[in-house]
Amino acid sequence: MVCAVGDETGKIFEQVFIPTKTPEKTMPEIIEYFTRAKVEALGVGCFGPIDLNKNSATYGYITSTPKLAWKNFNIAGMLTKTLGCPVGFDTDVNSSVLGEVTFGQAKGKNSVVYLTIGTGIGAGIYIGGDLLHGMLHPEAGHVLISKRADDSFEGNCPYHKNCFEGLASGPAIEKRWGKKAVELKEKEEVWELEADYIAQALTGYILTLSPQMIILGGGVMHQEQLFPIIRKNVKEILNGYIKTEEIRHMENYIVPASLHDNQGIMGCLELGRRAGM
Ligand code: ZN
Repeated sequence: MVCAVGDETGKIFEQVFIPTKTPEKTMPEIIEYFTRAKVEALGVGCFGPIDLNKNSATYGYITSTPKLAWKNFNIAGMLTKTLGCPVGFDTDVNSSVLGEVTFGQAKGKNSVVYLTIGTGIGAGIYIGGDLLHGMLHPEAGHVLISKRADDSFEGNCPYHKNCFEGLASGPAIEKRWGKKAVELKEKEEVWELEADYIAQALTGYILTLSPQMIILGGGVMHQEQLFPIIRKNVKEILNGYIKTEEIRHMENYIVPASLHDNQGIMGCLELGRRAGM
């Protein structure tokens, strides 16, 4: 877990990395750090699924996570109680999209999708000027996609055989090809297939959410060779059906994260600011 101190302009003064062990071990370290920093408000961008419904008895809880020690843990409640300051709480990916619309390249846009592709796949969604919550929060990494006929990998999501995360996350790449993504840079077929799956998911988001920009972050997206192939594939799948400036200028529409991998932290600064208002 990254803990950081900064201000409402997005400036980060300092940050530390605390390994995610169990709540009993990790929470005291986090609380000590923020107590010492005397923060006025806190923003928490949390792995999920989490309960964001303020009317729910389990608001602020991490719910059915595969990180079992953290299952049903009231993280926002504990931080509010011990730090005695306002606490904003959202998903890690919603925090990242908030960072990009507040401080980054998506400033001024009111509908933006931020997708992270790394150890898992998740999407933060900002629609009509606000973070999308709804029944729970978006779990857009688990949308179903069509597996290519020449792909014999069965997918590694324990819940779905052919979901986006199961076929295209970093661990899925490693399992399918027997090597980590960073060691496969020169293998074109790896990135052709990866871009195919990413483009399928993005097209679904484009047609459903009508975002004005799609930002791709996370470890796998450091493979910059993916971007031109993804843009080409999205255009092919849309097949001329959508005719907007954004789709015409795909290089400004499907873009890498702009805040040097600090988009999540900066989004949390904004979450904290909003909580303290
Ligand atoms: Zn899944």
